[in-house]
Amino acid sequence: MINIAPKLSDQEYEKNFAELHSPMSKNSAIAESNRCLYCYDSPCTKACPTYIDIPAFIKKIATGNLKGSAKTILESNWIALTCAKACPVQVLCEGACVFNEKGEKPIEIGRLQRFVMDKYFEDGMPKLFPPAAKNGKNVGIIGSGPAGLACGAELALLGFDVTIYEAKEIPGGLDTWGVAPYKVRQSDSLKEVKLVESFGVKIITKTRIGKYISFEKLSAKHDAIFIGIGLGESFDLKIEGEDLKGVVGALEFIEEVKKEKWSSVNVGKRVAVIGAGNTSIDAATEAKRLGAEQVMIIYRRSRSEMPAYEFEFELAQQDGVIFYFQTNPVRVIGNSFVEGIECQKMQMIEPDEKGRRRPKPIPNSEFVIPVDMVIKAIGQQTNISFLESIPNLKIENGMIVVDLETYQTGNTKVFAGGDCINGGKEVVNAAYDGKRAAHGIYKYLFEE
Ligand SMILES: Cc1cc2nc3c(=O)[nH]c(=O)nc-3n(C[C@H](O)[C@H](O)[C@H](O)COP(=O)(O)OP(=O)(O)OC[C@H]3O[C@@H](n4cnc5c(N)ncnc54)[C@H](O)[C@@H]3O)c2cc1C
Repeated sequence: MINIAPKLSDQEYEKNFAELHSPMSKNSAIAESNRCLYCYDSPCTKACPTYIDIPAFIKKIATGNLKGSAKTILESNWIALTCAKACPVQVLCEGACVFNEKGEKPIEIGRLQRFVMDKYFEDGMPKLFPPAAKNGKNVGIIGSGPAGLACGAELALLGFDVTIYEAKEIPGGLDTWGVAPYKVRQSDSLKEVKLVESFGVKIITKTRIGKYISFEKLSAKHDAIFIGIGLGESFDLKIEGEDLKGVVGALEFIEEVKKEKWSSVNVGKRVAVIGAGNTSIDAATEAKRLGAEQVMIIYRRSRSEMPAYEFEFELAQQDGVIFYFQTNPVRVIGNSFVEGIECQKMQMIEPDEKGRRRPKPIPNSEFVIPVDMVIKAIGQQTNISFLESIPNLKIENGMIVVDLETYQTGNTKVFAGGDCINGGKEVVNAAYDGKRAAHGIYKYLFEE
């Protein structure tokens, strides 16, 4: 990159990457939990993809029973600290809180859950879940993201021997390597890894299945397999100039930021992020917080089709990110290094078969935006190469097909969950899938 943004001071980095939501004090947590109406039909619980009994855990905070509160949370969700900090609560539990209807502030469920989980980890993870006697079966899990960890925890407590195989050196999946550090730090994610390990789950890192161990060999070693491999690399833009220095994938960039060695991450003075999903917003806000002078999000559709959540959009705007809607990149310009991006203006026309309005280029509307760095954030592809060797496993639109009751794939011995079956949702969905799949595996090995 020719124009690297000047480095900031350590204090500036720490300020820029400070947590978005501060922890609650004990007094505030008790006061907030006493505000809860403990609704008989608890809409918040229904809106939680893991169905945490939210009124029950909040009531236990109010009565000072924090261990009991942690137990209620963990019974539904093994990835509860990350979820407390990173869930889009505005559209889930807090969005469903009855106080919204009254025009009042919803209960701060995310921060209350974080209060409980922080205390649970501070207290050294008190033993709340006695494992069942060993059942003589063993399961291999591919991937240590939230889906793999949740599946491993649940299986271990059901009496299975569990081994998780992880490609990376540090486990935790995107909680460790993707979710913005101002929401979740690596250290938070690693606490959850430790919790799962405390149940006896073995995690073998630096072991990519399909490369170092074939699926066939793995399958021969275990009574059942769970696949929780998430998604793969960022999609290419497929335009001229994409191979210039300074064009990077969003995940590649975000992974560097997650290492929390802020000053060693080079960011351009002017950065264009292509795409307008939640990952694009993260890449853009992180570039800005690293000191980029100008960050632009370039999106070919209009604001109303933008996949990013409204609150993420607002966060990026507050950070000074500029949005170019109905703008399609057609060429990256430069001479070995990126110097600009040529774009074309788009008009929105009638919807496609999915009901989404389509963008159509406006003739002779090309213009060039001078930039020093381009971040590709138009989605991720499933890493399906090794999956193709699994007999009867069905893949549709890049996603593994499972029975949504049992999480069993077309191969009866193989189960799957998380981003690799849903195309990329949230941590909480992966946590739910992993837990449910563990019961699918139990049923397959003991009840069928
Ligand atoms: C940039 C970014 C920001 C996000 N921010 C949020 C957020 O704020 N809130 C939220 O709720 N969700 C967020 N998400 C989504 C969330 O991170 C994912 O939905 C969730 O992590 C999916 O979990 P998973 O276990 O399915 O996959 P992953 O977390 O991707 O974990 C998969 C694991 O499998 C490993 N693996 C892959 N292939 C192999 C193999 N062949 N052998 C061995 N190991 C393998 C990978 O190394 C990885 O560790 C974000 C996603 C991204 C990309």
